[in-house]
Amino acid sequence: MNFNLTTTPEEEAFRCEVSDFLKAELNDEIRRQHAMDKGLGAEARAFNRKIGQKGWLGLGWPKEYGGSGGSLIYEVILLQEFARHEAHIPNEIARYMAGPIILHHGSEDMKKEFLHRIVAGEIEFGLGYTEPPAGSDLMAMQMQVVEKDDHFVINGQKTFNTESHYADYHWLAAKTNPEGPRLESISLFVVDQRAPGIDIRPMATLGGETTNEVFYDNVKVPKSRLVGEKNKGFLYMVNALNYERLALFQMERIFPTLNRLIQYTQKTRRNGIVLADDPLVRNKLAELVVEAEVGKCLEYQALSLLIDGRIDYEAGIVKLFGSELRQRMGYKAMEILGQFGLLEEGSAWVPLKGEISRLCRASVVDTIGGGTSEVIRNITAIRGLRLPRQ
Ligand SMILES: Cc1cc2nc3c(=O)[nH]c(=O)nc-3n(C[C@H](O)[C@H](O)[C@H](O)COP(=O)(O)OP(=O)(O)OC[C@H]3O[C@@H](n4cnc5c(N)ncnc54)[C@H](O)[C@@H]3O)c2cc1C
Repeated sequence: MNFNLTTTPEEEAFRCEVSDFLKAELNDEIRRQHAMDKGLGAEARAFNRKIGQKGWLGLGWPKEYGGSGGSLIYEVILLQEFARHEAHIPNEIARYMAGPIILHHGSEDMKKEFLHRIVAGEIEFGLGYTEPPAGSDLMAMQMQVVEKDDHFVINGQKTFNTESHYADYHWLAAKTNPEGPRLESISLFVVDQRAPGIDIRPMATLGGETTNEVFYDNVKVPKSRLVGEKNKGFLYMVNALNYERLALFQMERIFPTLNRLIQYTQKTRRNGIVLADDPLVRNKLAELVVEAEVGKCLEYQALSLLIDGRIDYEAGIVKLFGSELRQRMGYKAMEILGQFGLLEEGSAWVPLKGEISRLCRASVVDTIGGGTSEVIRNITAIRGLRLPRQ
């Protein structure tokens, strides 16, 4: 493994600034509103605006669009500190997918209209890629776009669009060239999420998160909301997936839960002994810590490649390893807690405020969203090992 992610004193000073800010501003209510994902409450929205005022939602973006300029390393530090403090970086779709694509491919007008507001934490985007017949194979999407005078007319259905029930804009992928070559059949659009003809139907998930079906019935979208070139959307989407995969998982997020679990085993007795003295429990905890440290190395390698502009399949490896590790942590913790672990928050007997049962339920989606484990293994085999495509 070969990477360099060293930081300068200025960058470390920035790390301290972020950490101090989070210690002062973050509280359990804001964490809860972020985690519940049911439309942010007043506290979480105010917190987001404060992050925007700090200039931290535009780290690495050009100054003319409200960004800070400079190296992506500041973004990496921000992600790490937010993860360490169990905070949520608002508006991930805009920060890591819509924003970078608009920045690189959008018209000047679109950059002026959206980038400043993303940086200020004022607007939220929902991700509109998946359709009932098109998840892993996005090119199978069927949503149709017809061009008319100064606008497009869009019809069809998206599913599992997680932020749509509260987002301001839909980051939509749809077919503009259904008969053309597969790689040149999709375009991207920014659609006002409240436009006439859009129907958003929430769906509850096992993990407590809300996601949505989004129906389009003759929705009119101005031509100025086409992102970049027509029919180039799939290429833009694929390039941005690396950002999404790295933003989805930071190994630092494993440690707070793991540390609370370790502390719990140190002060809980079962069958006459302290749990942390049980060799099987110690084994499981040690395995998790080793895996989390391995994950950090994988992540640092991918981040250094991202900063150098050389990232390829490595972001997928981090996502694959991190998502499966979160699931393994949930299941191992459940073995350690025994049947008490199944209890939910609110029960008098629940250990760790129900955190582990919540983790087991919430981590199911981790190996599905942002590319399933099977698909990422395939990509790693093809691009990493150069094995033939099947
Ligand atoms: C809670 C939740 C939130 C989501 N949020 C969003 C969102 O905000 N926006 C959005 O656009 N999408 C979102 N998704 C969709 C998610 O990205 C897709 O579910 C995912 O890409 C898988 O697609 P699919 O569900 O159609 O499953 P399929 O693609 O049908 O896959 C079914 C199974 O087949 C396997 N499989 C498929 N193709 C291959 C292959 N080539 N080789 C080997 N195995 C394969 C898969 O690994 C999986 O196990 C969300 C999904 C969930 C569950």
